[in-house]
Amino acid sequence: MRNLLRRSLILPVVLLVALALGTAAAQQRGQRGQGGQQAQQNAGTGQFEILPIRNNVYMLAGAGGNIALSVGPDGVLMVDTGTAANSDRLLAAVQQLQRQVATNGLPAWNFAAETRSNLPRMISPPAPPKPIRYIIDTSLDPDHTGGNEKLSQAGATITGGNVAGNIADAGTGASIIANENVLLRMTTAQAPFRSLPTDTYHMDSMKLSHFFNGEGVLIIHIPSAHTDGDSIVYFRGSDVIAAGDIFRMDNYPVIDVERGGNIQGVIDGLNRILDLSIAEFRTEGGTMVIPGHGRLCDSADVAYYRDMVTIIRDRVQDMIKKGMSLQQIKAARPTKDYDPRYGKTTGPWTTDMFVEAVYQSLIPKK
Ligand SMILES: [Zn+2]
Repeated sequence: MRNLLRRSLILPVVLLVALALGTAAAQQRGQRGQGGQQAQQNAGTGQFEILPIRNNVYMLAGAGGNIALSVGPDGVLMVDTGTAANSDRLLAAVQQLQRQVATNGLPAWNFAAETRSNLPRMISPPAPPKPIRYIIDTSLDPDHTGGNEKLSQAGATITGGNVAGNIADAGTGASIIANENVLLRMTTAQAPFRSLPTDTYHMDSMKLSHFFNGEGVLIIHIPSAHTDGDSIVYFRGSDVIAAGDIFRMDNYPVIDVERGGNIQGVIDGLNRILDLSIAEFRTEGGTMVIPGHGRLCDSADVAYYRDMVTIIRDRVQDMIKKGMSLQQIKAARPTKDYDPRYGKTTGPWTTDMFVEAVYQSLIPKK
C-alpha cells in the first residue's frame, strides 16, 4: 500500500519539480553541475521539491522548514515561508507553480476540433494568477518565518468594501496569520516590521472566514509544545494537515523550553493531529500530514512518532522519580533505541539537548 502510494507520487513530483523551479535557479544549478542534488536546507542555493498532495494543496521542501501551499483560482495561501536566504527563489517557484496550475501545464492546446479549440486561448489567454493572499506561521522560527517579508510584500490582502480610501496601507501585502505569542516574541526579538504577523488569534483555534480555493482552512493552536505559539493548519477539503515543528522526520522534536515549549505539549499536539486524521485503509494513506521537516507522512507516521516521544517521556519521568540527576539520566541514554533513526550528536538540536529539554519539562517548577 505504502509502496503504491509512493510510486503514484513519484511521477507528478518529477514533473512538477522540473516545471516549478525558477529558470534562474535552474540555470545556476546547470552551471554548477548539481542537477540531481537532493534538497538542501538553509543554503539559499539548494533545490526545491514540490509535491502535489491533493486538490489544490502542495508541499514545498528545501526552502527551510517544509511549506504547505494552496494554489488555485483564489490565489495562494502559504503555511510558513522558509528561510530569508531562500525567499527570492521561493517567490519565483511559487509564481511558476501558479502559472503552471493556471494553464494546466500546457502553453496552448495543439489541436482544434468542434468542442475544443485553440481560439479561446488565443483570444483571451488565461487570467493572470491571483496574488499570495495568506501566510500562516506555524511558529516563530527563522526557518519558518524568514520569507514572511518578501512573500507577503509580493501578495495582497483581501480587503472588505469600505477600507479603500481610508487606510492607504490596507491592501498592501498578504495577511500574515499566527498565534499571538508568535507576534509577542517576534516583536520582543525586534524582527523586521514587515515580517510580523498582521492577524493573530489567542483562542484554541481560528478559521478563515470563507473558503479558500474551494475549502475551509482551520488553524489550531497547540499550547506549550515546540514553543508557546505553535499552530497546525488543517485543509478540511483536501484532508491535509501542516504540522509545523511539533512533528518532524529528521530529528527528535525541538522543545524550546525558553520560549514556552514542553514535552507534554508536543505529545498533546501529536494526539490532536491523530484525532483529526483518518486513515484510508489499515492506518495507511488517508489524511496526509506535512511535517516541519522531512518527507510527507500519513497518520501511521504520526502515531509512531507520538509513541516514540511518549516512551522517552515516560523513561525520563521514571528516572526523575528514582532521584537521578540530569547527568545520570543522560548517561543512562533513555533514547538509545531511537537514536539510529532520530539521534544527532552535532547540529542545532542534538540528542543531548532533547533529553535535557524533556528533563526540564518534567521537573517540578520552582
Ligand atoms: Zn523548523
